Amino acid sequence: MHILVCVKQVPDTTEVRIDPETNTLDRSSAPAIINPYDSHAVEEAVRIKEKVGGKVTVLSMGPPAAVEVIKRCIMLGADEGYLLSDRAFAGSDTLATSYILAKGIEVISHKEPIDLIFCGKQAIDGDTAQVGPGIARRLGMPQLTYVKNVVDVDTAKREVQVHRKLDDGHEVVVSKLPCLITVEKEINDLRYESLPNMLRAARYQPTILGMTDLGADPVKMGLKGSPTSVSRIFAPSQRGEGEILKGSEQEIIKQLVQKLSQRAI
Ligand SMILES: Cc1cc2nc3c(=O)[nH]c(=O)nc-3n(C[C@H](O)[C@H](O)[C@H](O)COP(=O)(O)OP(=O)(O)OC[C@H]3O[C@@H](n4cnc5c(N)ncnc54)[C@H](O)[C@@H]3O)c2cc1C
Repeated sequence: MHILVCVKQVPDTTEVRIDPETNTLDRSSAPAIINPYDSHAVEEAVRIKEKVGGKVTVLSMGPPAAVEVIKRCIMLGADEGYLLSDRAFAGSDTLATSYILAKGIEVISHKEPIDLIFCGKQAIDGDTAQVGPGIARRLGMPQLTYVKNVVDVDTAKREVQVHRKLDDGHEVVVSKLPCLITVEKEINDLRYESLPNMLRAARYQPTILGMTDLGADPVKMGLKGSPTSVSRIFAPSQRGEGEILKGSEQEIIKQLVQKLSQRAI
């Protein structure tokens, strides 16, 4: 079983500040970390490998410094890592990002076919949750999003059974392999890194691939390949405290109508 996990390097949003003058993220204020959802995706892939055998490969797109997230994944038990890094990738929106990652996955799967792809549910900086589904669509494979439990991976039947999180419970879904899964944090508890994995990570150098290695179309990446653009980023102004209306249904309706009319709404 060859499992591939997409991992993104993100600024630690618990530390990041917004520049009040320019309303942009002051990225220098925050350390770069592995997207927390992606740590859980790697952990799940490693657990499946331990159960059914196989190999875990991680893939990231980012600047050369993103090598660090791949080393982190080696510490967590991944076997191999690829970094897609090229100036031509800069400024890519989610459409272009999913194109570049899908191209990278195609290159890796030509060497060794991929049975299962994991992504985080979302990245804590971009927050769109679009990249995983975008990759699945481009590769023409089923997607199982918001997965909170991988119940079984049946290598003989080439099937996976999962629980997808819903607002009011969960849905049990069975999919044929290969497929793409996006994970919730509750899917597992992270384990401590082992000493051998830490030593291996310290020496590990991932394979770095650029635009020409992927045979990718330059028009579909970077700013040129990104139909969306961010027109403004701002910190929302603080809202006043809310008020809870109490009483019977009739009393609440009366109070509400009074309050709305006082405000000329
Ligand atoms: C409208 C718009 C314009 C943008 N413009 C720019 C820009 O000009 N310059 C710029 O640098 N960025 C830009 N971005 C941000 C960039 O598009 C996103 O960082 C990137 O596409 C990933 O999207 P996301 O963070 O929402 O990931 P999500 O879709 O929330 O991530 C889900 C999962 O996909 C995988 N994933 C996501 N990104 C990567 C990655 N890079 N490598 C490996 N796996 C990954 C991870 O498993 C992750 O958990 C823009 C975003 C938007 C929405």
